[in-house]
Amino acid sequence: MNTETFPICQSCGMPMRQDDQFGKNSDGTKNGDYCIYCCPNGPEHMEGTLEEMIAVCAKIETQMGLHPDEETARTRLAQYLPTLARWKKA
Ligand SMILES: [Zn+2]
Repeated sequence: MNTETFPICQSCGMPMRQDDQFGKNSDGTKNGDYCIYCCPNGPEHMEGTLEEMIAVCAKIETQMGLHPDEETARTRLAQYLPTLARWKKA
C-alpha cells in the first residue's frame, strides 16, 4: 500500500498536498473536500457542470503534460471525474 497519499479534491481530482491548496468554507475555514480552485468561498457557491469541469481540467492537465493530447485527457477525465463525490450523487 502506498502511504504517500494526499486528500484529493472531490470536484477535480487534484491532490492537495499543502494547506493553501485546500478550499475554503464560506466562513473562511478550511474545507477538506475541495481544492482552492474549485471551492474558494464555500461548497454552496460552487458552480459549473461536469462537462465544464472536464473541459477545463483537460486543457490544464494537457498543458501540465499529464496527457499526450487534449482528446485523451477528455476521455480519461470523463471516466475519472464522475467517481468523485461532487459528481457521484444523481
Ligand atoms: Zn478542485
